[in-house]
Parts: sequence; structure tokens; C-alpha cells
Amino acid sequence: MAKTYIFGHKSPDTDTITSSLVMANLEKALGNADAVACRLGGLNKETEYVLNYFDIEAPELIDDVEDDAQVILVDHNSPSESVDNLENAKILKVVDHHKLALETSYPLFYRAEPVGCTETVLFKLYKENGVEVTKEIASLMLSAIISDTLLLKSPTTTEDDVEAVKELAEIAEIDYESYGLEMLKAGTDLSDFSIEEILDLDAKQIDFGDVKSIVNQVNTASIPDVLEMQEDLEDGIQKIIDDEDLDIFMLLITDIVNSNSEVLVLGSQASLVEVAYDVTLEDNHALLEGVVSRKKQVVPIMTETASKL
Ligand code: MN
Ligand code: MN
Repeated sequence: MAKTYIFGHKSPDTDTITSSLVMANLEKALGNADAVACRLGGLNKETEYVLNYFDIEAPELIDDVEDDAQVILVDHNSPSESVDNLENAKILKVVDHHKLALETSYPLFYRAEPVGCTETVLFKLYKENGVEVTKEIASLMLSAIISDTLLLKSPTTTEDDVEAVKELAEIAEIDYESYGLEMLKAGTDLSDFSIEEILDLDAKQIDFGDVKSIVNQVNTASIPDVLEMQEDLEDGIQKIIDDEDLDIFMLLITDIVNSNSEVLVLGSQASLVEVAYDVTLEDNHALLEGVVSRKKQVVPIMTETASKL
């Protein structure tokens, strides 16, 4: 049988990486022996911590897929975030928790739920199919839910995520609160990264209507530590704005301990942030009280504000 490539989005995060592994395991359990977990980019520090902690090998790195390749998408469905040559591949399945951004000319298995993490959906799929959630699989699922929901504190968190974390922590035999904080902190270590890498780590191109935008997010235990790099960050951001012809670039610097974000904004439409959040940018940045979720607390409000231009 032909290989089935399973992967999450570019600039992979912990959910994307673990979901490709967990989905590949599910596919194999369901009889698809040629399912291969893949990834579209380097591991971030948090994901590295997770895989090292549980001694699990990273998915295979790929850049593109061949024509007519069979693929399964996890933790994304937008072609712009997906593998190169997706338009010539055959998408067999999607398991996701993002808004629908995909159109195909053929039917496919599509499972998306408005929950905090793809792994919460995968946990349900394991149960529905009677597939055993081993200690290793539970550890991966648990790590991703903690990552995507910032230890169940993000407003994207649903009852299903909370329930899943409790059940998975028991299977994995992990004190999820202490493990989770260590894991999140590991992800805030930016010391090995260049400015260009930091600005690419979790960058998402999300246009607010006609306003061409990139929203990037970095987690930290100390906002001032990140702002020490402000001058270099701004140089890097300005270069991306020029290269990509963007109207606005937002860097959310998210304090994982206090659940706030400082936003650093550049671009001709930077003032949209001031209108959207009723804040004043000082030296290009402002505190967004209680904002930790790009998906729930940035994209909708920025899109709405841009629509009133
Ligand atoms: Mn993701
Ligand atoms: Mn996710």
C-alpha cells in the first residue's frame, strides 16, 4: 500500500507534533500499516522537552509530498499552513480544532471540534474506535492539551479538555500541574534562537479582512526579559513587513504565569490594536490584560475592528 503522510502545520507546536504521532498510531491500530508521522519544520523547545521527557522519537521531517500522495492533516486544515504541493495530494482525513479553511473536490473524513486541542478530539476517536490509550500515547495527548490551553487557563479551554486532562493524567501517572509548568517553562527558553528564528517560531499569517497580517506568539515567564530584545525584534519584524508586504505584524509576548500578553506591533495599521483593545501603544507596545489566546482573543476582535475601517 502507498504511504499515508500524517502531519500538522508548518512552524510545528506540541499539538501538531504529538497529534501526528498519535494519529499515526491510531491509523495503524485501525489497519493502515503504512501511516507515517511527519512534520513540516524544526521542533520548538517545549516539544523537544516533551519528546525527551518520555523518550519518544520525533516524526520524520518532510518539505513537500509527491503528486497523488495520500495525506492526513492534523491540528490545521488551512492549505497556507500545510505541506507544499498539497493541491496535488489526496487528503484522506482531517482531525482538527480550527475554523474551516479547506475546500476539496472530493469527499473526505473530516472531524473538527471547537475544543482547546486536537488531542482532545483524538482522545475521543481512540475511545470511539476502542483503541487502547497507552501510557505513552496518554503522555503525548496530555502534553499537547496543557500546551494549547496553557495549563487549562486559556479561554479556548472547554469542559472536554479539562475532562481529558484528568483522565489522561491518571493513565500517564503524571502530576499534570507540576509537569505542565515545567514543560511550559522549557518552551520559554529562547536563548538558542536567533531573532529570525524567534519571529518564525509560531508565526501565523492571519489576514484581518483586507489587512495583511502576521500574528506571532512567544510564551515567557518574564515579559521584561523578552522586551530586552525589543530593538533587534523590531529590526527583524520590519524586515518581514517589507519582504511580505504586510500591513501589520503583532508579536504577542505571553506571560504564562500571570496569563497576560504584552503586544509588540509594527506596520502601517498598528493603530488597529489601539482601537481593538482600547490601549495606547507606547514605544510600539502595550499590555493586553488577560489576553493569552490568539485564536479567541486576537483574530476575532482584530478582524471586526478591521472591517470597520
Ligand atoms: Mn497548533
Ligand atoms: Mn492545536
